[in-house]
Amino acid sequence: MRLFALIFLSFSGWIFHNQKDPFETARLKMVEDQIIARGISDPATLKAMRKVPRHLFVPAASISEAYTDGPMIIGYGQTISQPFIVAYMTELSQPERGKKALEIGTGSGYQAAVLAEIVDTVYTIEIVPELARESADRLTRLGYKNIVPKYGDGYKGWPEHAPFDIILVTAAADHIPQPLIDQLAEGGRLVMPVGNPATVQELILVTKRKGKITETRLVPVRFVPLRRLKK
Ligand code: SAH
Repeated sequence: MRLFALIFLSFSGWIFHNQKDPFETARLKMVEDQIIARGISDPATLKAMRKVPRHLFVPAASISEAYTDGPMIIGYGQTISQPFIVAYMTELSQPERGKKALEIGTGSGYQAAVLAEIVDTVYTIEIVPELARESADRLTRLGYKNIVPKYGDGYKGWPEHAPFDIILVTAAADHIPQPLIDQLAEGGRLVMPVGNPATVQELILVTKRKGKITETRLVPVRFVPLRRLKK
């Protein structure tokens, strides 16, 4: 009888373990085929991409497409970025323990979660109130204690917590908001899509060394527009 219970327990444990994340195989394949194959090699970034359950950040109706190679609609006219772009922006930001990050455009919360696996704290701002609430709830449910979300217009950054070692802007504008450049720490890195918000932009990396700003233009990308709250 005891042996039976033991077998039963280990069997149900096995089932539970395997049911815990039925998407793990798809996620590991995503990292191999979409991310490593395209040149991302930072071990911390790859580890975070292998860990964060992307399927829990997309609408339930499209959960089966969570690991496909593209952006996805998350409601309110917004999207969760393509996995490769999330990995690319993460790697470009040179995330490390000890660093503090700011993200503009929380959306689903996925990019914030990926960064939060690596850096100390992620501050993240979302302008659509429903998305801000949903992503904050999701991140709490998933146990991310080092993400500080807020509703608001990220154009002005978050001066109370500046300076930031990393600033990721995940919405497009025709210029880099000056407050974000001002809130970048010495040695910091800012990544943002800059160009025509209605069509195509370029991903730009901004670095600050001895107070001097350097901009590097990277790849063409397509992000939703950075909006402004009406005054
Ligand atoms: N990083 C997100 C995807 C971003 S989509 C993710 O991982 O899911 C871009 C997001 O930026 C949208 O949710 C949009 O509502 C938000 N956004 C647009 N303008 C903004 C602004 N001025 N401040 C904060 N968020 C903004």
